[in-house]
Amino acid sequence: MRALYPGSFDPLTLGHLDLIERGASLFNELVIAVLQNPQKSPTFTLEKRIDQIREATSHLKHVEVIGFDGLTVRCATESKANLILRGLRAMSDFEYELQIAHTNWTLDPNVETVFLATAANHSFLSSSVVKEVARFGGNISHMVPKIVAQDLYRHFNSALYEVE
Ligand code: ADP
Repeated sequence: MRALYPGSFDPLTLGHLDLIERGASLFNELVIAVLQNPQKSPTFTLEKRIDQIREATSHLKHVEVIGFDGLTVRCATESKANLILRGLRAMSDFEYELQIAHTNWTLDPNVETVFLATAANHSFLSSSVVKEVARFGGNISHMVPKIVAQDLYRHFNSALYEVE
């Protein structure tokens, strides 16, 4: 099985990384697809987000990182992935994720969507919450990989905590 894990990853959190590690052990190959999404005015450029994920996943085999724009199902087909992996943190994610999964299924029934429940200790994590904490110089070392913490503090010019 070759799975596609799509998302904005702006930036990657330890919750995303947990899902990637578990996905990489469940499937033969995992393609992390980073959405360009210029309409959302991302904090980090596509290239930067790809670099952050490559570095944070360098210990994993059979994982690749690509950028994409447009339809996720098209990206899955072009990447030769037969399923889409998504994470569920709480009920609040469920309705949105179900809507997207149904839509994707109507677009291409050959591409299944598989959900993994977030590890409980990461269920509170989101890229936007991490950015709010980083903006005000709070400790984010338990929320994001080291490379991302360094980039966030540099971006907001706000480090109160040393990143070792
Ligand atoms: P999107 O803009 O597509 O929602 P995100 O980067 O926010 O992109 O999320 C990508 C995927 O990772 C989604 O399936 C989301 O539910 C999942 N995810 C987000 N945060 C976490 C977390 N803390 N733990 C596990 N999965 C998460």
